[in-house]
Amino acid sequence: MIENLAGVGPKTAPLFRELNIDSAAALLDYLPFRYDDLRFPTPAARLGQSGSEENAVGRVVAVKERRVRGLEIVEAELADDSGDRFVAKWIGRNRYVYGRFHEGMRLFVRGRVERSFSGPVINVVTYGTLAEDQPYRGELVPVYRASKDLASRKIASVVKKNLPRLIAGAPADPLPAYLAAERGYGSIAEAYRAVHAPDTPEEAELARERFVFGEFLVLATAAQMRRNERQRDHDARALRVPPDLLKNFQDSLPFPLTDAQRRVIAEIWNDMGRDVPMNRLLQGDVGSGKTLVAAGAILLAARNGMQSALMAPTELLAWQHASRLAPLLLPFGVTLEAVFGSQGARSRSAAVAKLAGGEASVAVGTHALLTQGVDFDRLGLTIIDEQHRFGVEQRARLRAKGVSPHTLHMTATPIPRTLAQSVYADLDLSVIDELPPGRTPIATYAVRTTRLPLVYEFVRKNIAAGHQAYVVAPAIEEGESALTSVVTEAERLKKDVFSELRVGLLHGRLGAREKEEIMRRFVSGELDVLVSTTVVEVGVDVANATTMVVLDAHRYGLAQLHQLRGRVGRAAAKSYCILVYPDDAGERDRLEILTESTDGFKIADEDLRLRGPGVFAGTAQSGAADLRLGDLVRDIDVYRAAKLAAERIVGNDPQLESPEHAGLRAALETQPTTRALLISS
Ligand code: ADP
Ligand code: MG
Repeated sequence: MIENLAGVGPKTAPLFRELNIDSAAALLDYLPFRYDDLRFPTPAARLGQSGSEENAVGRVVAVKERRVRGLEIVEAELADDSGDRFVAKWIGRNRYVYGRFHEGMRLFVRGRVERSFSGPVINVVTYGTLAEDQPYRGELVPVYRASKDLASRKIASVVKKNLPRLIAGAPADPLPAYLAAERGYGSIAEAYRAVHAPDTPEEAELARERFVFGEFLVLATAAQMRRNERQRDHDARALRVPPDLLKNFQDSLPFPLTDAQRRVIAEIWNDMGRDVPMNRLLQGDVGSGKTLVAAGAILLAARNGMQSALMAPTELLAWQHASRLAPLLLPFGVTLEAVFGSQGARSRSAAVAKLAGGEASVAVGTHALLTQGVDFDRLGLTIIDEQHRFGVEQRARLRAKGVSPHTLHMTATPIPRTLAQSVYADLDLSVIDELPPGRTPIATYAVRTTRLPLVYEFVRKNIAAGHQAYVVAPAIEEGESALTSVVTEAERLKKDVFSELRVGLLHGRLGAREKEEIMRRFVSGELDVLVSTTVVEVGVDVANATTMVVLDAHRYGLAQLHQLRGRVGRAAAKSYCILVYPDDAGERDRLEILTESTDGFKIADEDLRLRGPGVFAGTAQSGAADLRLGDLVRDIDVYRAAKLAAERIVGNDPQLESPEHAGLRAALETQPTTRALLISS
């Protein structure tokens, strides 16, 4: 109970809980994210150069006090040891510091500095008085993530008051003692002390690294154990690859497979040929031809008498997969059934019967596939499209409909390899790094909002030439934020801008039926312009759409914009992507990266560099990106070391039975990040 701690009362306890600090242990693990270095005062002559808070020590030369409409303003002029002057300024109510200072006093003050024409002025946040001979001894002050009602200072003071007691109750150390020693880390108690109350920044940094290493070690150990388990089971069906299968598949297609497709199919078939269930992630940029690869995997399963299930996150996407896969599989006599939520009861039960009886080889659908009553005769392959959109449990539930089926996860979001290998610790990675030939690159422009009328003029021209266009905006309704709303923009376009054109509106709050109807109309050319939120991101493939306008483009990650852009340029006609950003957004440089490159992996690397791994939080498996302390990219070296250590530990002690691994085992059972690894289960 957090209430039991000194300094926490009935008023503050709920504020701590809001920050998920609900116990002494949670408070101990609530690590500072930086430190204010108050160890050395800044000489008056150098104050105001850093822009951040600064601290200074000086002797009071003069004090000015006044009251303005209930506010008390106190300004003390101080001289530092060199005799240089600065002003410390307090503004407050109720005799906050009124009358407290007088000439000759020695003070320590801290705050943000303003430079006035008469010299530096510190707007005081913290201050203290110093006795005549008392040397100034500053501290490294930990700064904690705070909330509106609970300041970092309050958190720091509660931690400080309770630190010995908190440390005494610390959880078992996840690091085996030999490993901590090897890495040059002290005891965990010492690390907690050093991170909450450090004497030097170096000490704090090493302690932080220890916790990051521990977090990674738990993650990597869980992955390693799971991998071992999977490798040990040998309960998957090892499928036989007929020697002429690739050639037959190739011959059935109107174009040659790209080298990348061929390579990736070989990797997948190789996995499926083993009795260890495949667990592979297929990464391929939008338009790189993943559907064909999926068809190849399905084909191999079908040739071996096994059924496949492909699950997609939206009906739009599932519907598209079904309509694209069917003709690819048809020449091989492989039949497909669709299972959707909005499907009529009759067609649903017909599909379900065929799957259960084994008459149909392939099920394509949404989450509806997971419902009870959808069963398979011999499910040997599960394919999960846009895998990050599904939870751990959902993926597991689909797999549970077969006996150790092979699993292929697919994603159209290129994630930097470094990140992917860490995040998907237990997935083998296949990458399609080549687009089919004959694509004209999409011309991309970054344009200020003031020029939007010109953009729409351009759209009109393209439509007059017989094409269609997307207009994408971030918000659905007006007033949710300052962002452009698709509802409002669609209205405006219909009424004013494109009154002679047919404008449709698509967003996530429409019913599944309605969405499909709008899509159908856009696909069939009954609509000229589709105004949409990012639901259009995955799943839509309309070859005649050649222009993509993204409003408030600054709100999207580069990788996401790249994906949106992939909705056009699907046929030979020249395509355009126009990124519109507010005049004051200052995002031009970032958006320019897109105007210069069409390589999804390169763009992802840039996104990573510019905005950090957080951008991939939604796209990478979100659970795993949710690391408490570590940052897989910034701390990649620590991660690699932890991964090596984990391999060694699990190699020597597969079940973590040895007493020296008890702490690690306990952490494994309680730390939420390890749940993310169930991606492999
Ligand atoms: P993804 O799912 O990776 O975004 P798709 O599988 O939808 O990509 O393929 C995009 C388009 O490229 C489709 O129209 C498909 O027919 C075509 N395509 C796929 N592979 C090839 C290839 N090897 N040569 C030419 N066109 C291809
Ligand atoms: Mg696709």
